[in-house]
Amino acid sequence: MTALSIDGKAVAAKLRGEVAASALTLRERGVAPTLAVVLVGDDPASAVYVRGKTKAARESNVDVRDHKLPATTSQAELMALVDTLNRDPIVDGILVQLPLPKGLDEQAVIRSIDPAKDVDGLHPISLGYLAGGKPGFVPCTPKGCMRLLKEIDAQVAGARAVVVGRSVLVGKPIALLLANANATVTMCHSKTRDLAAEVKRADIVVAAIGRPELIRGEWIADGAIVLDVGINRTPEGKLLGDVEFAAAAQRAKAITPVPGGVGPMTIACLLENTVEAAARRR
Ligand code: NAP
Repeated sequence: MTALSIDGKAVAAKLRGEVAASALTLRERGVAPTLAVVLVGDDPASAVYVRGKTKAARESNVDVRDHKLPATTSQAELMALVDTLNRDPIVDGILVQLPLPKGLDEQAVIRSIDPAKDVDGLHPISLGYLAGGKPGFVPCTPKGCMRLLKEIDAQVAGARAVVVGRSVLVGKPIALLLANANATVTMCHSKTRDLAAEVKRADIVVAAIGRPELIRGEWIADGAIVLDVGINRTPEGKLLGDVEFAAAAQRAKAITPVPGGVGPMTIACLLENTVEAAARRR
């Protein structure tokens, strides 16, 4: 079997088109969906990511307000900005770009965001709704993974899903979303005794580890669906996923490439959350 390579760029473009249309409808009612982006310090990767978000937002009829703060910003200054954005009626969504420079308490900042504007879906209230299977803001990369499964008409209900990685940002929310969609979910991590055996049993494999090609192609069951969230840069500057792509593609039914698979979905889902926030709030 040679797998379908899931084109995340195309699905993300389609989603951004849907978001642009919803945003336009809101604009016609006098509501301009607005995302506030807070970038602290000068981490080059974060700056590139923020620029990508800003460009995609403009193309999707979402207004962006950039707030660039120096690396020397104190916790109190950052929290004061979040407080101002919480109270600003124009702002629908607040995104604080992570990671924050050393010395700043990320969790305290996330907790200070108004849950109604938590378009990153990382506030404990949003995560609580997700755990309860109730509607709320869903973290963007996990949301993007579920949309990719929908696009390929994956049978999720009843499927055996194995998620490798248990971060609050990716692994745990994906596991919850899959369980909410009636998959039978196993969450693996660095202490899992026999990772190969767990992966071999899976109809759906989600890799969110951050270790290049840790998931070997031979572990993938025939006909499985593989979503590779990992982004790893080799010393030569090449991007590799967490899954051994070429060998896995010989066995899988469908697989996301890296780059061009899960990655492009994140920003599209952030914009979808922002337009959703605007529609709910106003
Ligand atoms: P993270 O917080 O470092 O979590 C990594 C997880 O992988 C942890 O749960 C860890 O287990 C597990 N792990 C590490 N080594 C393992 C091993 N040998 N066997 C099994 N599990 C192992 O990373 P993250 O933020 O979730 O990100 C994961 C990857 O996704 C990274 O490559 C990141 O760049 C990428 N990412 C991509 C996007 C996107 O596409 N837009 C967004 C976010 C993240 P323990 O819990 O036991 O330590």
